[in-house]
Amino acid sequence: MDLLKTLVDKGLRCELPTREEALAVLATSDDDVLDVVAAAGKVRRHWFGRRVKLNYLVNLKSGLCPEDCSYCSQRLGSKAGILKYTWLKPDEASDAAAAGLAGGAKRVCLVASGRGPTDRDVERVSETIKTIKEQNEHVEVCACLGLLSDGQAERLREAGADAYNHNLNTSESTYGDITTTHTYADRVDTVNKAHAAGLSACSGLIAGMGESDEDLVDVVFSLRELDPDSVPVNFLIPFEGTPLAKEWNLTPQRCLRILAMVRFVCPDAEVRIAGGREVHLRTMQPLALHLANSIFLGDYLTSEGQAGKADLEMVADAGFEVEGAGEVTLPEHRVRAAGGRGSVCGTHEGCGSHEGCGAHEGAQVCGTADTCGTSAAQAAPAASPAQEARTDLVAVRRRGAGTDLAPNA
Ligand code: SF4
Repeated sequence: MDLLKTLVDKGLRCELPTREEALAVLATSDDDVLDVVAAAGKVRRHWFGRRVKLNYLVNLKSGLCPEDCSYCSQRLGSKAGILKYTWLKPDEASDAAAAGLAGGAKRVCLVASGRGPTDRDVERVSETIKTIKEQNEHVEVCACLGLLSDGQAERLREAGADAYNHNLNTSESTYGDITTTHTYADRVDTVNKAHAAGLSACSGLIAGMGESDEDLVDVVFSLRELDPDSVPVNFLIPFEGTPLAKEWNLTPQRCLRILAMVRFVCPDAEVRIAGGREVHLRTMQPLALHLANSIFLGDYLTSEGQAGKADLEMVADAGFEVEGAGEVTLPEHRVRAAGGRGSVCGTHEGCGSHEGCGAHEGAQVCGTADTCGTSAAQAAPAASPAQEARTDLVAVRRRGAGTDLAPNA
């Protein structure tokens, strides 16, 4: 297929595809999906070899958010039966982080629900970062605390944070349909603040909210412009008790096409499969490793993932290898660029909304229908037909951080 040859050539040169080419990837048929994976896999291997970076989510503060992100189980008015707790103490967070690191993770993503941190919250998280770094040599720490005010990114950087996650989630034109309490511009501003403070920026999207192919391409092109080092791709977990609970419209093949498109548009960025991996890719997860070079180990923010041991077995069986703590994640030219602006993440020196939330990074899905206006699904034509609801695959997290039970890392 000429399209794929062109995209591989551009990916190897880090050249931006056209919007039409990105849309054409999403429009390929299921018969062509293996060709699409093979092509994007060449780009992935060129920049990242066969390495898979493992990341571990620690939900520092769960639920009770005043914001109304319709995909999020922690949102205002959410009726999802998730864990709700306030700030973990530094030692508790460090213990949770240690479980993920022992399981093979090299980055810990510290996530807290909420619009954004107060200065006292930044102090609290700074203490947690220092504790984790004292107790775990070489760990990368990413903070994901919501919208940042002036000076907060710098203080997190001084405390030892390597990266900051804040996802764009969806296109600018549909952003107001999924959230009314803050704007797309607020999100862009926070990603820029992280960049400016020398933090490695992590920013991604949520697919499966009823958006069109054009929306997906819009958000991925916006991400390319923002130039984050890592791009988490969340697949909506339609939590019961959230406004998007009925949005089951992803197939494993569509997830693969979306990941391939992200790889072609952001060839040299760490593309991470985030929340919804098990729910939507299901038995096709190993194929997605040919596209993404990064996953979360074990559980997400408010939902359970497959066991960490199963993640490790999948990586090995698919012919990939877990990236070691001493290995540099990003291609050399990116590390040099990061060094120039003071950040070195993607190397081990150094996560959105919230990265696991789809929004908040573990791509959880906040929300209830009560307070949400129009959903993205209502606002835009659905790109894919409705699929069978696999509610059997959605399990609320009941172990790990904030509980007395061991995590599954
Ligand atoms: S995504 Fe973050 S800001 Fe939005 S409702 Fe969920 S916890 Fe709150």
